[in-house]
Amino acid sequence: MTSANAHFKGEILVCSDEIKEIKKRNEDWGTTFDSADLKTVSTDGFIFPGLVNLHDHTTYNYMPLWIPPKVFTNRYQWQRHPLYKKQVKGTYELIKNKDYYDLRNEISMWDEAKSVVNGTTSTQGSPRNKTLDTWLVRNVDNKNFGADKVYSRVLSVKDGRFDGRSLNMKAAEGKLDAFIIHLAEGIDLSSRKEFETLVEKDLLKPWTVIVHGTALDREEFRKMANSGTSLVWSPLSNLLLYKKTTKVDRAIQEGVLVSLGTDWSPSGSKSLLDELKVAWEYNVKDHDSANYTPFNTYSLVKMVTVNPAESLGWEDKIGMLKPGMKADILIMSKVSFHSSCCNGLKETDPYSNLIRSTSKNVRLVMVGGAPIYGDSDAMRALSVRGEKVNNSCPGQKEIVYKSGEQKYTLKKLEEALSKALEFDKNYMRFTFAYSRRLELNPSEFEHWWDNNFSDITPMKLDPLFTENDSFFLKQVEKQTGLNIGDYYRD
Ligand SMILES: [Zn+2]
Repeated sequence: MTSANAHFKGEILVCSDEIKEIKKRNEDWGTTFDSADLKTVSTDGFIFPGLVNLHDHTTYNYMPLWIPPKVFTNRYQWQRHPLYKKQVKGTYELIKNKDYYDLRNEISMWDEAKSVVNGTTSTQGSPRNKTLDTWLVRNVDNKNFGADKVYSRVLSVKDGRFDGRSLNMKAAEGKLDAFIIHLAEGIDLSSRKEFETLVEKDLLKPWTVIVHGTALDREEFRKMANSGTSLVWSPLSNLLLYKKTTKVDRAIQEGVLVSLGTDWSPSGSKSLLDELKVAWEYNVKDHDSANYTPFNTYSLVKMVTVNPAESLGWEDKIGMLKPGMKADILIMSKVSFHSSCCNGLKETDPYSNLIRSTSKNVRLVMVGGAPIYGDSDAMRALSVRGEKVNNSCPGQKEIVYKSGEQKYTLKKLEEALSKALEFDKNYMRFTFAYSRRLELNPSEFEHWWDNNFSDITPMKLDPLFTENDSFFLKQVEKQTGLNIGDYYRD
């Protein structure tokens, strides 16, 4: 991924957790090894670096799309809205809280499974106090490569208790790779003014990554480019909540490094494979600037590989296929499509092919050289057996657990979360530590429920795959006008 035409027919040699060598198909290996030790996975498709999702909230991704009751102008409005408090925060509380379902590990695992089956090998937005070590993918906010040097902030930059001193100190001591902060999420002046606060708090830095920046314009983008501050763009979430998104064309023109992130499933894409389609559709036809300068397929794919790695200061570790890099690898089978489809994507262009791809095309996902998910024959070729994954794929896929959490299987996770989301009062009364501790009888539980969570209604667990999620595809089209459903039709 050093230039749009740098791709070729070739082979990648992985040793341990690293890429050892890359060669053209008709060349000999420079590395000497015993061929009996070689395990081979072949593909007629494309090999990419594992995708990097630089904006997520991993513990919410069991939740289907929330339908916003109105168009908002900043994020504090929907966070305060009674419907949001009940439908998103209320259910989250019930699922996560130790007194209630206490399914914190399960929702993290569901998120990681969702990431990996859609080709993502690194994700952002995990809780810092996560009780599980990395299960499948890299959690950028936790320990990676032997150090814990990425910090994230979702709360407002304006909070008087928050200043930039400790982060600047960490940076000076070499203990900070990146600081990822939600900023200027909205379309009003108060959102835009958050940028001034960031500057006042001495946080306009090369290690700062601004999430959203929806309210920003050239003036701020120029300052960001000058200081090396980068940006994460989450178009679907913005379009659903504000009907507008970040002026990403202007950010790119001013020289800001831009990555793409999903945000979370209540108001965003289910995976980067979805968000690539949203970005492409938006790029081609649905922006609000007459001077919009579209990006090409290569620069869009960089937003989920090279760019986020650079924003994290991890450009020597992930985001590119190069000897010495960690073997975070995504093999995609080739998708065939007509040139009239998908706003100018070209079947033979590898970057177009990734944007057009769906989870069906994910042939193999490796994290640090470990095969985590893929077609059964590819997993078998690497002497790995995993749990079979039910989806609409013609070839069977399998998933394996990295950290030995054997008491969980994907099937059990799905059952536990689906059952919890029914909010069956009898089941909750028996399951919640709260009601067991107080020995609540059915009418006492009913009374407590009505006083605290009366508006909660059953919800469906958000599925891992977009292909069969007609609710998601219909809502995206209805609310944004972007038809990504075509990409999921054969
Ligand atoms: Zn967010």
